[in-house]
Amino acid sequence: MNLRVVLADDCFADRWGGERPVGGSGELGEELSFSALCRALADRSSDCERLGSVQESLALCARAGVFHWFLPEAYGGWGWSDRDVLRGYLRLSQACLATTFVITQRVAATKRLVACDNSAVQARLLPQLVHAQPMVSVGISHLTTSGQHLGQPLLRATRVDDGWVIDGLSPWVTAAVGCDYLVVGATLSDGDQVLVVVETAAAGVQVEPPLAMMALNASQTGAVRFSEVLVPSEQVLAGPLPQVLQALAVGATGGLQTSALAIGLANAAIDSIEQQAVARPDLAGHGLELRQQSDELTERLLGADSRAVDANELRAAANGLVLRATQAALLVAKGAGFVQGHPVERWCREALFFLVWSCPQVVQQAHLCQLSSSLVEPR
Ligand SMILES: Cc1cc2nc3c(=O)[nH]c(=O)nc-3n(C[C@H](O)[C@H](O)[C@H](O)COP(=O)(O)OP(=O)(O)OC[C@H]3O[C@@H](n4cnc5c(N)ncnc54)[C@H](O)[C@@H]3O)c2cc1C
Repeated sequence: MNLRVVLADDCFADRWGGERPVGGSGELGEELSFSALCRALADRSSDCERLGSVQESLALCARAGVFHWFLPEAYGGWGWSDRDVLRGYLRLSQACLATTFVITQRVAATKRLVACDNSAVQARLLPQLVHAQPMVSVGISHLTTSGQHLGQPLLRATRVDDGWVIDGLSPWVTAAVGCDYLVVGATLSDGDQVLVVVETAAAGVQVEPPLAMMALNASQTGAVRFSEVLVPSEQVLAGPLPQVLQALAVGATGGLQTSALAIGLANAAIDSIEQQAVARPDLAGHGLELRQQSDELTERLLGADSRAVDANELRAAANGLVLRATQAALLVAKGAGFVQGHPVERWCREALFFLVWSCPQVVQQAHLCQLSSSLVEPR
């Protein structure tokens, strides 16, 4: 049975009028429908936090074919459109943000492997990436955001005869401890940058233990140190170039996926308000208002022409919604929701992640202005 049809029928038909993702087809021996996957991920989301790992949830995603979405058919994937991927992200993040976030970082690496013109690396790695293993992630924040004020690059590249020597720190790598390969960027002494793929088992690569964070510890995010790591030319994906990340066309999803995840988490909180409103009718209006806002943002996110969407405007609105919806859910859950282990307290912490994750400066400024100037008074 074609799993794509299962996904289309039970995931997308209910909310988006029966539309089906378009593209190729894929067969999997062991089926897990998308709705069943989402239920399983939601059921497991507290366990992920308790165990500090999303490994089993990723294995479930693999069983349901999620990793096929992101790969072209030429590499055994289903070549889903950006829009369909966003629709999938909305549902996955509503079920378990930690798992979905790890998938996005894996996909960030995958997309760069797909977009590069290194056909040898592509032929070797990409067909394997429809499975949960090998695991790949990305360390690129230091090229654009992290440590930019320090005056010198955190991760340096020096040319040698047969490739590059990489030295320094990639400060943020999601799921690094479980990764087999990393896509990382490094800066040359003249300011140009190279993007390479490195095996975590390579000599000189040291994956630091995961950071203890206020939320999403199950993503096992941490730093990776590179001590004079030799990267042969065959492992270069792009560069050297002044802005190496801009050289690879990785599609519109990158800019909008963060908003999709924020809306997904907001939907989890709104669902909980609506469930409470069944027995507490005074809450119904609040649930309805938040639901309308979420639906409106979803419509903008999935608009027919994603290039016409102002990604920053959408991100600011999605950030605002997820912060308000999760805190509204806390007001509704009261003290019980403040107790560790209650999903609402986790969602409130997770919502704060959107203030720091790939948050464009203009969006940061908008939030800062709002936070420093508005005063909410009881009516
Ligand atoms: C859970 C999580 C997972 C992530 N996963 C990944 C990943 O897989 N891959 C990836 O590439 N990135 C990842 N990131 C990175 C993320 O996308 C951002 O790049 C990162 O959050 C930026 O924060 P920073 O602390 O590195 O910023 P920085 O700008 O380095 O700020 C750090 C500190 O420096 C100081 N500072 C900042 N600016 C200035 C200034 N102008 N002057 C003086 N001092 C200053 C402040 O004290 C600040 O606290 C992740 C982030 C998080 C939180």
